[in-house]
Amino acid sequence: MEIIQSIFIIIFSLILSSFLNVVAIRIPKGESIVFPASHCVHCKHPLKPHDLVPVFSYLLLKGRCRYCQTKISPVYLLGEVFTTCVFVFAFYQIGWNQELWIAIPLMALLTTITISDLLYKIIPNKVNLFFFVLFALIHVIYRPLPFTDYLIGVIAGGGLLLLIAIISRGGMGGGDIKLMAVVGLAIGWKLTLLSFFLASLIGGIIGVLLLAIKVVKRKEPIPFGPFLALGIWLSYFYGNELISAYIKFALQ
Ligand SMILES: [Zn+2]
Repeated sequence: MEIIQSIFIIIFSLILSSFLNVVAIRIPKGESIVFPASHCVHCKHPLKPHDLVPVFSYLLLKGRCRYCQTKISPVYLLGEVFTTCVFVFAFYQIGWNQELWIAIPLMALLTTITISDLLYKIIPNKVNLFFFVLFALIHVIYRPLPFTDYLIGVIAGGGLLLLIAIISRGGMGGGDIKLMAVVGLAIGWKLTLLSFFLASLIGGIIGVLLLAIKVVKRKEPIPFGPFLALGIWLSYFYGNELISAYIKFALQ
């Protein structure tokens, strides 16, 4: 049974990650995720099912189009491998229980916005809206916290970033604001605020490092979405432990 479950988890994660990468790459460009069907961006040759096996097709074809031999950007492979790992980790961390109702959509949201923010510096409205509705529906059947925790989460998550955007005159993007409102609805206000704190801390440190080694120039905006995603991920899996460790430390 264990083996069958593991195989299911890996196949499910591969398929979902392949789909989410299409979403993350197409939606910010205003393209449909269904039409046109997957094709080589160079020779436009439509791809057959055996060209679309996540990760494996890329490796078997050594990163080249089967039809015109043009090199395919390794971004696709990296995106799929990264997303698959995020899902597999979530399944093993959470176990086979109801919490997966939150964990899997949350991981889908985080990986999608990370890829689209890295590629296009955009967190698409469509993605935020889709997940907002999805989490509202999920809470009808599964809601580990009281309803008010989520309501406050939406207001606190979106409101805090909106406030920062106003004070900093646009230092925070609209996509980031909406994302944190969605996350507030997904995991409640406590972990959402911790997410933002962790994202700012990590983003601040990495930002200074990137400036120091001159990878980015001063005033050049660094997309904040991936840091938010990392903060949310840490907060979701380790937040309660972090909070109780902090309280223990503070009370000493
Ligand atoms: Zn081609």
